[in-house]
Amino acid sequence: MGTSGVKNRSGGVLVSDFDGTMTRHDFYKLAIESLLPPDVPDYWADYRTGSITHFEGLRRYFAAIRASEDDVLAVVERMDLDRQLPTAVKSLRHAGWQVVVTSAGCEWYIRRLLAAVGVEIEIHANPGRFEAGQGLLMEMPLQSKYWSPNLGVDKAGVVRDFLHQGLTVAFAGDGFPDAEPARVVSADLRFARGDLADVLRNERLEFHPFDVWSDIANRLLQRET
Ligand SMILES: [Mg+2]
Repeated sequence: MGTSGVKNRSGGVLVSDFDGTMTRHDFYKLAIESLLPPDVPDYWADYRTGSITHFEGLRRYFAAIRASEDDVLAVVERMDLDRQLPTAVKSLRHAGWQVVVTSAGCEWYIRRLLAAVGVEIEIHANPGRFEAGQGLLMEMPLQSKYWSPNLGVDKAGVVRDFLHQGLTVAFAGDGFPDAEPARVVSADLRFARGDLADVLRNERLEFHPFDVWSDIANRLLQRET
């Protein structure tokens, strides 16, 4: 390789966070602003101090939703999935790249948003269902080989599994739960914004910043040519 001029065109796997990475906004933040009573406890602070897990924080917020399913779905719409994502996923697929979602959020809105634009990709997220009067009931994916007691989904476990298969693995994210998987991939294949970008800067770990998710696809595709 290298001097032979033979390029590796086999692609790889792009493991991606969902909220704030494939979408502009996080569901839980929009839910706090638009769907929860103002006196809801600060579960996020409880998570940051370590008194509850990340999963438990989100579970409590989602279970506090008393809006109708239509109102919740309107908020899901406002998460603003990158409009170029379906095209980007297709282009990546043609170049040999598989896209896999790893999310500490809930499958309920992720599957809806992706299905609405005809995107079928592997998703590792916490299962859940909406029940009027009970909110969005999120559960641990206890049957998954990537179960994590803290996040529900062991994102780094997914990344490591693909690496152990000898595949080229890229990772993209925007939050604190994305730090561990981001550290595992090589700098050239690490994509970050938001809190994840801050964490990586503090650790002096290099990464590619991105604005919208399709920027990542474009960079990976350029890399292939
Ligand atoms: Mg995120």
